Amino acid sequence: MKANCWYGKHKLEVKEVPDPKILNPRDAIVKITLTAICGSDLHLYDGFIPTMRHGDILGHEFMGVVVEVGSGVRNLKIGDRVVVPFTISCGSCFSCERKLYSLCENSNPNSWMAEKLWGHSPCGIFGYSHLVGGYAGGQAQYARVPYADVGPLKVPESLTDEQVLFLSDIFPTAYMAAENCNVQPGDTVAIWGCGPVGLLAIRCAYLLGAERVVAIDRVPERLRMAREKGRAETINYEQQSVQGTLREMTGGRGPDSCIDAVGMEAHIQGPLYGYDRVKQALMMETGRPIALREAIMACRNGGTLSVPGVYGGLLDKIPFGSIMNRALTLKTGQTHMQRYMQPLLERIERGEIDPSFVITHRLRLQDAPGAYKTFRDKQDECIKVVLNPN
Ligand code: NAD
Ligand code: ZN
Ligand code: ZN
Repeated sequence: MKANCWYGKHKLEVKEVPDPKILNPRDAIVKITLTAICGSDLHLYDGFIPTMRHGDILGHEFMGVVVEVGSGVRNLKIGDRVVVPFTISCGSCFSCERKLYSLCENSNPNSWMAEKLWGHSPCGIFGYSHLVGGYAGGQAQYARVPYADVGPLKVPESLTDEQVLFLSDIFPTAYMAAENCNVQPGDTVAIWGCGPVGLLAIRCAYLLGAERVVAIDRVPERLRMAREKGRAETINYEQQSVQGTLREMTGGRGPDSCIDAVGMEAHIQGPLYGYDRVKQALMMETGRPIALREAIMACRNGGTLSVPGVYGGLLDKIPFGSIMNRALTLKTGQTHMQRYMQPLLERIERGEIDPSFVITHRLRLQDAPGAYKTFRDKQDECIKVVLNPN
């Protein structure tokens, strides 16, 4: 089969590789009909996630048709059309029983690596380094899906691939980010980052009852989409002071909750950017937590910080005193996918939201290496790329 493989920082190649096989009774093989590039993939592309190996197959947002099932999978049959969550969960461990699916204790065979870096391991993730299992990803023609009796969600024929694909990651991620804000009537939610996650988080914050959503970025077409498709008020951080504007908009108090949908590769003008870039390049810190710092300082007293943005390890100059002294609540995590997929599918079916509005580029799998660059550099007004492997 063809697959998009990682060969180092900014080096990707679409290659012929062996087809995946059933390895365990609870596996299924899915023939992929649509896959996407996620902002999280950029952290791999830019070389910020350790334990990648040459030839690793990327991709964790995919869907397709079941072509083979192991003897232990009773809920799926050949021909079923499914969306596959990016996290791999067994469904019956301590964490899965508590619906903390992204913390599954059975799905990361390399948990010892994660334990060294983080103390304990999260779940395995498709196409996301050996630290989280070294699983082959879904930017390919086929994928092996472990615990296929727990993860994949069957989707109705009445919905197109594009309408349901983002149930694999960014829609549940945006929803959990908004849910973590514990939105109350009258609340203002501020969201850093108008990438696909931030844009969907705007919609989810409104679905959960926010009165006002303020979105922050600097890329004009992303800010435009936040206003036009999201009904958000926007701040261009290159033209306005984020702190000052948020204060003004909220009567001096600050937003009730703040979502960091930027993560470890944040950008900003000024000396701190150079400081973080150098430290990150020297591996003295593993992220540039610029949006996170700003979100902490902006949040109202007693408010909530929700962090879907991905961070790898150690961060520098985090104003923790601000969190402590002002009694902020911090909520974060890889998304507990299986909690959200079915209810969010129902929202799509009811027409409450169609997450495909973020798609700007429809390409073939062969185009993946160029598409990463276009997406990363925000060329050609690129916001979200989907790839057709067939
Ligand atoms: P993206 O790279 O397309 O979007 C990031 C956006 O942040 C860009 O539009 C960029 O211009 C903007 N930005 C950069 N610096 C900023 C700053 N200082 N202030 C405000 N905006 C700034 O990525 P995406 O696909 O939207 O993903 C966003 C984040 O969510 C990434 O870190 C990704 O890894 C993470 N993510 C997490 C999960 C999870 O399970 N928690 C799942 C999917 C994605
Ligand atoms: Zn992702
Ligand atoms: Zn589990």
